[in-house]
Amino acid sequence: MTRLDLFIARMVSQRACLDHAIALTADMTGPVFELGLGNGRTYHHMMAHITGRDVYVFERAIASHPDSTPPEDRVILGDVRETLPATVARFGAGASLIHADLGGHDAEKNVRFAREVSPLIEPLLAPGGLMVSSDRMFFDTLVEQDLPTDAIEGRCFIYKR
Ligand code: SAM
Repeated sequence: MTRLDLFIARMVSQRACLDHAIALTADMTGPVFELGLGNGRTYHHMMAHITGRDVYVFERAIASHPDSTPPEDRVILGDVRETLPATVARFGAGASLIHADLGGHDAEKNVRFAREVSPLIEPLLAPGGLMVSSDRMFFDTLVEQDLPTDAIEGRCFIYKR
C-alpha cells in the first residue's frame, strides 16, 4: 500500500466507524467526547450527524477550521493526560460515545500513547457506550467490536462497554 492508499483507507474507515457508532448510540443521552480536534473534520462530521447530545472536545491547542471550531464552553483545553482524569470527576461513566484521533506520524509513539491514555478513557464510557479510535487501544473491560463492512481492518477500532 502506498502512503496515499493508507491515508484514504484511514479516512474511509474513520467515517464508516463514526457513522456506525453514532447510529448504534443514537438512543443514548450521555455526552459525546471528541479527543483531538486538529483541523476539526471529524468534529464537523459528528456535529452534522449527532442530535440531542452534548459534544465536548479535548484538545491541547485549538487550531481548527473556523467552520469546525467548538464553542468555548464545550472545549476541555489541555493535555488529555491531565484533562481526562479531571473529567471522570465531572461526568463519571456517562459518555455515550468517545472518538479518539490523537496520533501522529510515529507509529511506535502512537502505540505508547494509546497504552498511556487507555486507562484514562476507560472509566468515562457509559454501559452500552462505544469508543472509536484510529489506534488500537489497551482496555481491560471494553470489548473490541466488529467493524462496519465499509471500514478496513486495522485502520480503525471500535470498543464497547
Ligand atoms: N480528527 C481530527 C480531524 O479530523 O481534523 C484530526 C486530529 S489530529 C490527527 C490530532 C490532534 O490531537 C492534534 O490537534 C493534537 O493537538 C491533539 N493531541 C495530540 N496529543 C494530545 C494530547 N496529549 N492532549 C490533547 N490533545 C492532543
